[in-house]
Amino acid sequence: MSLTVKPILPRFGAEVSGVDLTKPLDAAQRREIVDTMDKWGVNVYRNTGLNDEGHIAFSQIFGYLERAPAATGRKTRHKYREIFDASNLDADGNIIQDEMLMLHKKGDQLWHTDSSFMEMRTSYSLLLCYEAPPEGGHTWFADTRSAYDDLPQAMKDRIEHLEVEHSLWESRKKAGFPLTDEDVDSRPKARQPLVMPQASTGRKSLYVAAHARDIVGMPSDEGRALLKELIDWATQPQYVFSVKYEPGDMVIWDNLASMHRGGEYDSKKYRRDMRRTTVREGTPPEIADDPFAEYFKASLGNGVIGSKPQPAPAA
Ligand code: MN
Repeated sequence: MSLTVKPILPRFGAEVSGVDLTKPLDAAQRREIVDTMDKWGVNVYRNTGLNDEGHIAFSQIFGYLERAPAATGRKTRHKYREIFDASNLDADGNIIQDEMLMLHKKGDQLWHTDSSFMEMRTSYSLLLCYEAPPEGGHTWFADTRSAYDDLPQAMKDRIEHLEVEHSLWESRKKAGFPLTDEDVDSRPKARQPLVMPQASTGRKSLYVAAHARDIVGMPSDEGRALLKELIDWATQPQYVFSVKYEPGDMVIWDNLASMHRGGEYDSKKYRRDMRRTTVREGTPPEIADDPFAEYFKASLGNGVIGSKPQPAPAA
């Protein structure tokens, strides 16, 4: 097999075709698909024909799939815990009108990397489109490897060994969700390197995101100014493109080599049904279950965002 790869930017993003993802893949096909991800950071597959089962089966070629907390006493739209709901729909499939929940989801429209607020990092996210709004609702991607490559050497030296604290609630606060600094500081955070090495390619990326709150050992105002400077740097036009979806399209991104953000659309008017699987970085851990349940329990107390209990957001 040989994939057809059409670059989107010279160094980042590619439209990939020439393989039927609904069929079992042999070792050579898997290798080529993974290598193409390593090289381009974001891969777009059009009109895949995948359903939930196929989405999960294909995603597993990249590694262990994270699972959303078990649904207890609430209804969910999906029967598989490997499917994270990135839609604007409630459990009955109706458009969410709850202002608080909409505000919570608004945080996904800020530049971020998925799950950087978890100690166990997410490598790949695979987002499959079921329904797309007629206008807006694209996903934007930024090339954090080339952005790192292009930094002045003095900045590379300055940031090389820095660590950053990430919190889901930091990005919600930035998006306007009513939280105080004390609220954010009292909830769990994860410590991450600011410069992320990629073993498979030897490249490095800027591991920054809206979830990033403080740089360890630096005064808050100074750390936040530096984080903003780096996010602004990495989201300059030469590092950025967007993907428009039709049903069946799937985008795979490497969270350790990119940032992304949801594009705006009229979320009270149009349905947008996107479903995501997420791959845990590295070898599957001995513990089979996921820390998301613990994270949200510690973060939310009663698990309520908006007026009803909600599953873990696909942030
Ligand atoms: Mn996301």
